[in-house]
Amino acid sequence: MHSEVLIIGAGPTGSTAAGCLADHHEVTIIEEHETPGLPIQCAGLITPRAMPEFARGSLINKIRGAKIHSPSGFTLTLDARDTKALVVDRARFDECLFHNSVDLGAKPLTGAKVRAVKAVDGHVRIEARVENNIQEFEGTVLIGCDGYRSIARSAAGIRGPKHMLSGFQVDLIGVEHDPDFVNLYIGNKVAPGFFAWSIPAGDRVRVGLCVWKSDDLPSVYLKKLLSRPEFRGGKKISSSAGKIPVGIAKTAICGNILLAGDAACHAKPLSGGGVFTGIRGAQLASECAGRYLTTMQEVELRKYDRMWKDDFGRELASAFRIRKVFVSLSDKKMDRALRMFDDPEMLSLIRDRGDIDYPSSLSPYVLKLAPKLARFSPQLIESLLK
Ligand SMILES: Cc1cc2nc3c(=O)[nH]c(=O)nc-3n(C[C@H](O)[C@H](O)[C@H](O)COP(=O)(O)OP(=O)(O)OC[C@H]3O[C@@H](n4cnc5c(N)ncnc54)[C@H](O)[C@@H]3O)c2cc1C
Repeated sequence: MHSEVLIIGAGPTGSTAAGCLADHHEVTIIEEHETPGLPIQCAGLITPRAMPEFARGSLINKIRGAKIHSPSGFTLTLDARDTKALVVDRARFDECLFHNSVDLGAKPLTGAKVRAVKAVDGHVRIEARVENNIQEFEGTVLIGCDGYRSIARSAAGIRGPKHMLSGFQVDLIGVEHDPDFVNLYIGNKVAPGFFAWSIPAGDRVRVGLCVWKSDDLPSVYLKKLLSRPEFRGGKKISSSAGKIPVGIAKTAICGNILLAGDAACHAKPLSGGGVFTGIRGAQLASECAGRYLTTMQEVELRKYDRMWKDDFGRELASAFRIRKVFVSLSDKKMDRALRMFDDPEMLSLIRDRGDIDYPSSLSPYVLKLAPKLARFSPQLIESLLK
């Protein structure tokens, strides 16, 4: 079977790409699970710009700030006094995006696991297992939106993530939580290589963490986190685990194969959020694929790298440099760094200019207000101020 565009993966990235192209092109979207969105591997915290109007039915809560807890127990409260983030039901969110793409004309193939991808003579051929049969598909362009384990990325010979974070989270009922704020917990004993979170999500609280290069599994750290007084007495009603690939490769394209979302390691290095960059990357990849299909000029596909780098790639690279400093900090230094933000001028700067999707844009302003932060890594500071 031939389609102009084959898309592997019906997460937010794949469904967005399919929705963008389905109007004018033959698109087949292939998903290994029967129901897109399940199993859930996400805390569901996104920025308003990542929420399409047609997915608003998945909205559970609005967040206006964060309380960051240092290793020694100091708490920094960031209060935007306005909605900064949304909590969504990720399964419902993915379902809305998937159905929208199908309504727009994309051909869905669920319960089909792609097991081989090969570029042949200006086309891409894939093999998928569908109900115990192997089926072959051919596409003029393939957009790999198949997550952190991407088979499309391997076929394209593109390097994987520099850091792979391992996450684990539970939904608790029966605990008190301020509905307007998320809590973030940092520290090498709490969540080495990343951070832990609690997110108010309607009738429940989502408590989880990611770790990197840790001595123990994330579940071991989560058990410790759940023994904190604020979670005591909570009843666990669900749990989920997953990986977050951070640290981008130089390219997200090889021949007629384009990568977007986690497949391209486009998750944000500081927050682990990948929904916004996945959706944005999918829009840009579709734009290039669409123009290529109309003109058959390969240069149109090659524009994709420049476009995602200009849009959010530089932010990901800066954030990854900050992440490398963060993971090198001792608990004592983390504590000192966090306390430096506890200043009225700094807090109003974060409130006015802070952007969860582009956090490193704040760095030059932060460093002007707190030059002592430069002591944590002079090289980093130099690269941020360039
Ligand atoms: C614990 C945890 C918490 C997170 N919290 C947040 C958060 O709060 N906010 C946020 O923005 N991000 C969060 N993320 C990251 C976010 O979940 C991902 O970045 C996002 O899902 C990426 O979307 P995607 O469509 O690129 O990939 P995915 O959502 O992973 O979708 C890929 C799809 O491809 C399918 N697939 C894979 N291989 C094949 C194959 N061979 N054949 C067919 N189908 C295939 C998969 O089944 C899947 O449906 C979190 C991640 C974890 C692990």
